[in-house]
Amino acid sequence: SDLDDSLGVLVFGRTGPVPFNSVDIGCAMDLATIAAGALDTAWAFKDATHSARTDQLTGLPNRRAFEEEFSEMIAETDRYGKPSALVIVDVDFFKKVNDTYGHDAGDKVLKQVGMTLVAQKRTTDKVARLGGEELAILLPQTERDGALEAAERCRRAIEAMAVEHGGTRISVTASFGVAMYEPRSQGAGSLFDRADQALYAAKHGGRNRVVLADH
Ligand code: GH3
Ligand code: MG
Ligand code: MG
Repeated sequence: SDLDDSLGVLVFGRTGPVPFNSVDIGCAMDLATIAAGALDTAWAFKDATHSARTDQLTGLPNRRAFEEEFSEMIAETDRYGKPSALVIVDVDFFKKVNDTYGHDAGDKVLKQVGMTLVAQKRTTDKVARLGGEELAILLPQTERDGALEAAERCRRAIEAMAVEHGGTRISVTASFGVAMYEPRSQGAGSLFDRADQALYAAKHGGRNRVVLADH
């Protein structure tokens, strides 16, 4: 019916006893049509913008959205003076999860890892999926000890996750690379590289651990 795709209701009223004439009614209907068209376009645009920035599997911001958040965080850090941190998270032996339990199980693990990180984060922190089994967390206005503590809390939460698949429990761990950004330090360009190197060190140190990058 017409109501199925209705966007809302416009109500017209008039003080006094004079009823609306056919010209008034025609104007009101034209106005409603124009308003509906504009709203439809605006909402479709908002939808498209949202999906372009969202990872379909986990519902988290994707890499593109993350890069924007990253730039904003750097700008804010330079303005407000406290350091910020970038944490890169990579699921350990994830290929083995796919190989052993199937791709659907792997997807389920990724979704749950995403939810676990979101559950751990503070409101101002940002979690995103960078791609594959790699996620990231931005910690604005956070000192080194706080960042390490947050990463460690996430690591433990993932380790403690119960991922059920076909009656068995899949155990999951992840490795974490943490890099600090000091205000006005010109270190933003190398922040991803440093976090990546720390992640690499975490993998080679035996996985399921947090490593802080040198600067
Ligand atoms: P490491 O501990 O060194 O990180 O080992 P790993 O197995 O986690 O790393 P590797 O890079 O060898 O494997 C990553 C795997 O992630 C391979 C790829 O098929 C899988 N993968 C990437 N994206 C997805 C996805 O969206 N869903 C599923 N199920 N698997 C994915
Ligand atoms: Mg991995
Ligand atoms: Mg990886």
